[in-house]
Amino acid sequence: MPIRLLPPEVASQIAAGEVIERPASVVKELLENAVDAGARSIAIKIEGAGRRLIEVSDDGVGIEPEDLPLAVARHATSKLNSAEELFRISTLGFRGEALASIASVSRLTITSRPAHQDIGRRLRVEGGQVSSLEPVGAPAGTVVRVEDLFYNVPARLKFLKHEATERRQIDWLVTQYALAYPQIRFHLSQEDRISLQTSGNGYRREVLAALYGADVARIMLEVVAQEEWLGVTGFISPTTLTRSSRRELSFFVNGRPVHDPSLVVAVMQAYHTLLMVGRYPLGILFLEMPPETVDVNVHPTKAEVRFRDSSRVFSGVQRAVRKALLAHTSMPEIGKPTVRWSGGLEAGKRDSKTGLDWQFSAEVPQAVPKVPVADEPKPATVSQPFPRVPILRLVGQIAASYLVAEGPDGLYLIDQHAAHERILYEKLIAQWHNAEPNSSPLVQMLLHPVTVELPPAAAGLLTEKLPLLEQLGFQVEPFGPKAFLVRAVPQLLASMDPAAALKVLVEDFEEDETPLQSEAEARLVARICKRAAVKAGQVLSAEEQRALLADLEACSSPRTCPHGRPTMIHLSVDLLERQFGRKGAR
Ligand code: ADP
Ligand code: MG
Repeated sequence: MPIRLLPPEVASQIAAGEVIERPASVVKELLENAVDAGARSIAIKIEGAGRRLIEVSDDGVGIEPEDLPLAVARHATSKLNSAEELFRISTLGFRGEALASIASVSRLTITSRPAHQDIGRRLRVEGGQVSSLEPVGAPAGTVVRVEDLFYNVPARLKFLKHEATERRQIDWLVTQYALAYPQIRFHLSQEDRISLQTSGNGYRREVLAALYGADVARIMLEVVAQEEWLGVTGFISPTTLTRSSRRELSFFVNGRPVHDPSLVVAVMQAYHTLLMVGRYPLGILFLEMPPETVDVNVHPTKAEVRFRDSSRVFSGVQRAVRKALLAHTSMPEIGKPTVRWSGGLEAGKRDSKTGLDWQFSAEVPQAVPKVPVADEPKPATVSQPFPRVPILRLVGQIAASYLVAEGPDGLYLIDQHAAHERILYEKLIAQWHNAEPNSSPLVQMLLHPVTVELPPAAAGLLTEKLPLLEQLGFQVEPFGPKAFLVRAVPQLLASMDPAAALKVLVEDFEEDETPLQSEAEARLVARICKRAAVKAGQVLSAEEQRALLADLEACSSPRTCPHGRPTMIHLSVDLLERQFGRKGAR
């Protein structure tokens, strides 16, 4: 075929595809325009999950009548005058293509009246063509109506998710903006139901409940930090509250939502080993910095940014989150759990194995190892100044899962699996860090080497990680394009099926997007330990129980497992006396 210029409608639909992917993208662009217009109040109305109608009304500055047709022209903006200004953008919009894009894939109506005009104007655009412009009575501000989104792009319609999913995306998006702009009043209705309403009184905590629900909002920790030019505010979850994905960890930079994996890593590092592998905190952080220190012109959706000094931003975020975590858990010790004996019908969760009905407060304050937060990411170390456990006298095992021990100050309940994980973790890390250049880790050679076949992506990953695996005591070699030959495994994993052991590790690589080697390694080791540790429900001999206690006493961070869960609960004599009504009033 000869080369031809694309007809304008096709070109603009292609361009629109970059910005307007789904109903939520329309909502985002319209919200940003309202914010840029200085709105104090923004109302959003959604019908048909955004396919039938998206209407955003604001009380901002409005659009002058003569500018109205320009607003829907591509590359027409009131927010940018020169190329230099591109490097210090202080508005959310600047590309001048959102309205043009929306206009080319929907039926668009804009009604606007600047406060100083007596009468408003209404502009209609269909499939990118202006169809009418007429005077109308209208309140000051702007109303943008987007109807029948993608009516002329059937391919795009097919890719939309279930209505419920699209609606949820819109809820989530608007709520995040409401939190980012607490001084603006937001009102969102979906299918005639109010799904968000904020007061615009400037208090973020109030909006937080809308984002996470009241229970979660109550325990979220506030982040407030200012270091020279970088401000970090927002909320993060305590270590007791995590999610299985990083989706609920979001960032705004100078008032715009951004996706930046390195910011996620910064937050994860601040939590250090306090989170289980594969668990993520939730939170929302607002970074403020001078506009010239961040390039927002990276991607049409403006969701990616480039920081001029990314390591400063990284460490600033890490420190800010760390500070919030430490402020919350002032004592590096397992605090006294609020134990309540709740007999009667209202009994809480009864442990089916023990019949015991202990209720612990949802928030067992966790030990936060005091890791120095340096400018540069440091490899994980195990030698943190951490309270050791006292010498313990074994009492026995209960529910085939917990050890009961007595210490100088009361009773200790020890989670055998978590404790064993901690012990293995420290042994393995020590082995690996202290290994003499020529000494080899404790290795179990296999009598018969085992072949393991992996899918191509996993095989590629594994090949990259072979040197690390060798340091840990695996002897694995490529055996054809996707197969590997396992000749030896770390002694700690000797009891496991070697193929299963290797597959577990590969799974971990796949999930692991962290660019930081040290963190990836620590997580890998933690993953091995999780597999190798004795399980809950495993009956241990008295010998084994005693050995476990002794090993735990020797650990440098005995009170949490490598994933951050407590290994033990301490019930002090004092607490017991109170519970039995021997002391104090209750
Ligand atoms: P951009 O926001 O990048 O400038 P848009 O296509 O989103 O591009 O909007 C084009 C122009 O239309 C804006 O620059 C602004 O002047 C005007 N505009 C859009 N929405 C509004 C609004 N809600 N209130 C006032 N002006 C608006
Ligand atoms: Mg815009």
